[in-house]
Amino acid sequence: MHEVGQILTLRKKHPCGGQTWEVIKPGVDTRLKCTTCGRVILVPRDKLVRQIKGKSTASQ
Ligand SMILES: [Zn+2]
Repeated sequence: MHEVGQILTLRKKHPCGGQTWEVIKPGVDTRLKCTTCGRVILVPRDKLVRQIKGKSTASQ
């Protein structure tokens, strides 16, 4: 499960060119905010899991 405030990098780019998203509200539909333009979107969790490029660079 994702945590509030977590930064995710997705494979699909936002039209603004941003690729990183901040988790606003995790759930069946996860609310994400584009860290580049501030747009908030709602993504189904199963779809989101497939879109995530890397969860963390600190751990393997
Ligand atoms: Zn954006």
